[in-house]
Amino acid sequence: MAGESILIVEDNDTNLRLFTYLLSSKGYDVRGVGDAPEALQLLQSFRPGLILMDLQLPGTDGYELTRRFKGDLALRDIPIIALSAYAMRGDEEKALAAGCDGYITKPIDTRAFPARIAEFLIKGPRGRAPDEL
Ligand code: MN
Repeated sequence: MAGESILIVEDNDTNLRLFTYLLSSKGYDVRGVGDAPEALQLLQSFRPGLILMDLQLPGTDGYELTRRFKGDLALRDIPIIALSAYAMRGDEEKALAAGCDGYITKPIDTRAFPARIAEFLIKGPRGRAPDEL
């Protein structure tokens, strides 16, 4: 839905610009950060409806950051969608085990991407129907 806010945690500038462009042009309020400390800082004043989480981050990686958010009562209901460059077997299971609510493989399909994000926004966190939120 246009107007909803999205936080993107992605250390690759080219990817961050691409994702931001694709989602901003659909009317979302998009903020981007490059690492875990920046994400934690921004979340003190910004409450996104969805987080896109690159799993391969410098320092604290996306798995660890997801576990941290999902263990935080104030943040646990924000759906987190993992972004991973690795098409490795087991990567998606690892992301879901860390608490991610969905998974998208990079490079992304730029035409399908906004629709997939819209689906995740409607669906909400894993295991909960939107009307339970
Ligand atoms: Mn990365």
